[in-house]
Amino acid sequence: MQLRKFIKKEIVIEKNVSAEYEIARILQKNQDKTVFFERVKGYDFKVVGNVIPSREGICRSLGTNRSGYINTVLDALDNPVEPVTAKKGECYEVAERSLHELPVLKHFEKDAGKYITSGIVIARDPEHGRNVSVHRMLVLGDKRLAARLVERHLYLYHQRAEQRGKALEVAIAIGVHPAILFAASYSPPLGYDELKLASSLLGKPVELVKCKTVDLEVPRYSEIVIEGKILPKERVDEGPFADITSTYDIVRKQPVIEVSHIAHRKEPIYHALLNSGIEHRLLMGMPQEPKIYGAVKKVADVKNVCLTEGGCNWLHGVVAISKKSEKDGKKAIHAALEAHPSMKHVVIVDEDVDIFDASSVEFVIATRFQADRDAVIIKNVRGSSLDPSASKNGLTTKVGIDATIKGRREYFEKAKMPT
Ligand code: MN
Repeated sequence: MQLRKFIKKEIVIEKNVSAEYEIARILQKNQDKTVFFERVKGYDFKVVGNVIPSREGICRSLGTNRSGYINTVLDALDNPVEPVTAKKGECYEVAERSLHELPVLKHFEKDAGKYITSGIVIARDPEHGRNVSVHRMLVLGDKRLAARLVERHLYLYHQRAEQRGKALEVAIAIGVHPAILFAASYSPPLGYDELKLASSLLGKPVELVKCKTVDLEVPRYSEIVIEGKILPKERVDEGPFADITSTYDIVRKQPVIEVSHIAHRKEPIYHALLNSGIEHRLLMGMPQEPKIYGAVKKVADVKNVCLTEGGCNWLHGVVAISKKSEKDGKKAIHAALEAHPSMKHVVIVDEDVDIFDASSVEFVIATRFQADRDAVIIKNVRGSSLDPSASKNGLTTKVGIDATIKGRREYFEKAKMPT
């Protein structure tokens, strides 16, 4: 249940490295390997990056494998487990005075500043209960952060607090077990406590401890805890920030977190999550796959779902189905696009296709697809705010490609040689 016990140090960097660009460069160069930095210039922290740098890594953290992944997540969602409260919290062993004591990275040239990228933000709403979500947070000063709140649950909690004229208390945990980070990235329906999902995925309750200055709890083994509140009324410029597509997200007015307490474990490890890196993309994209699977299951016999690497694990999906009727392909297109509204292009394939292999998917587009008959084009709909080709008002055109076999199967039979 602890990040530090989960880490497999595939590369260890002994030399003194800089938190400004140097660590980010090394992480980008070694995106498929966990890199552990023993010494960081000016800080008493060790840094780890690319903790779950592959599908296999994420699956390992959830106690499953590639083929069991979707069912593991769907089962966990159906069987939430209540976290427990512990008396002692390792995360409060050492108190710090300033955000500047933390080795927060500067990642890319035009990023607005130093960004916390692996923090889970815990908050509570009087009606909806606890919510846990992941947000990028820009360091503004000793005790101030700007948080990008996409219009989802934490955004709603903050709005509701603001309408009551109140600040929203938050606890930010950095350096948690990847299953907790995954659950926070998942975004189940409003009112579903992500820590119950994490507990279910881990197979035992997450242990929490009470915070010092806010009425919330945090995972006891978090490497770092930042407590504070999201202020009402105040907004500041946030961005640019290199996001999942490797292009810069724009500057927006976003809320401010005023920090009331910072603490960490002894010999703390800072989890550096490289924005636009594989870990970032998989943590955002993989949780969408069970959602798409669940939606397509209602209209067709779905076999598997993948948001592809070339599509930034966000904009492009491939869905394998076992076709029972000629209409299944198009039904699956609509269901998939609705389930993951940021998805722009989706390809539906038969179950014989390896959906994780881009070449195999292209092959069936080449041999099983006719655009006038098998394409679905949906114009002027809301899509991803991270797609730089979308129009300025956020509208986009979506395309569904039904690349399943139509007509006589023997025409599509791959030539074999007798053995
Ligand atoms: Mn939520």
